[in-house]
Amino acid sequence: MSAWLSVDSDDLIHLPSNRGHPNRSSIPMPTWKTEGYQASQQLLEATDSFIQWVDGGPSVTIFLIAEQLDCPELTKRLQVLLQKPNVLFACHGWGHRCWSAWPENIEEFSEMLVAARDRISAFAGDSWRPWFRAPGGYVAPWMSAPLAAAGFRLDSSVNPSRWVVRKMRGHWNRVIQSMEQSGIIERPWLTTILGPACGPALRIYPFALLASRAWKRHSTQISNDPESTNVTALYWHILDHRRNSGKWKPPLSKSK
Ligand SMILES: [Zn+2]
Repeated sequence: MSAWLSVDSDDLIHLPSNRGHPNRSSIPMPTWKTEGYQASQQLLEATDSFIQWVDGGPSVTIFLIAEQLDCPELTKRLQVLLQKPNVLFACHGWGHRCWSAWPENIEEFSEMLVAARDRISAFAGDSWRPWFRAPGGYVAPWMSAPLAAAGFRLDSSVNPSRWVVRKMRGHWNRVIQSMEQSGIIERPWLTTILGPACGPALRIYPFALLASRAWKRHSTQISNDPESTNVTALYWHILDHRRNSGKWKPPLSKSK
């Protein structure tokens, strides 16, 4: 099976401890309609390192947070990435609200999806794909119908691991079923016998040990077509590229 590589564009403000969660966040978020986002220096530097990694590298999909296009400094860098033949853009919400941690709200979620879709697709043009990843991994069965109604064809929010069953309000199987019923392709993240193997798990002991071995094994072939190919989803964060003085790379197979 091929691997499908993707990154989330999260900045520090998007950590649920900062914003987006009803009771874990220090900054209140009464609505999804955030304005005036400015990228942190850390994210700008990480994006510069990411651009170097992308150059001549494998295909990768960027799950972008729509509000980030408010920031001219970051947008300049995203425009560089848009010129690369191996980069696609998809949707990671508008302001990184952790939707399923809040009470179910189909109307606002739908509004947000349409606004984020319109903004990112207008920016990315032919490189846009109607694919979604739920901010913070907070996904619930009620989100599948609004996704389908907004024209999304694929979701990659499910972390099928026992560690996150509570966050999923029940079981991830219900989410997968609900996506299927709405005609949305679900691409769950790679896990190992220990649990999560993507995102933060790449740097958290003991998950990181098994994760990097599993990544190497799964990434001998890369596909940027997760819709028609049954891929293994491997994802990390652009912010990871600031580690190791900007030299950090995802643990892919040597042939990549
Ligand atoms: Zn995120």
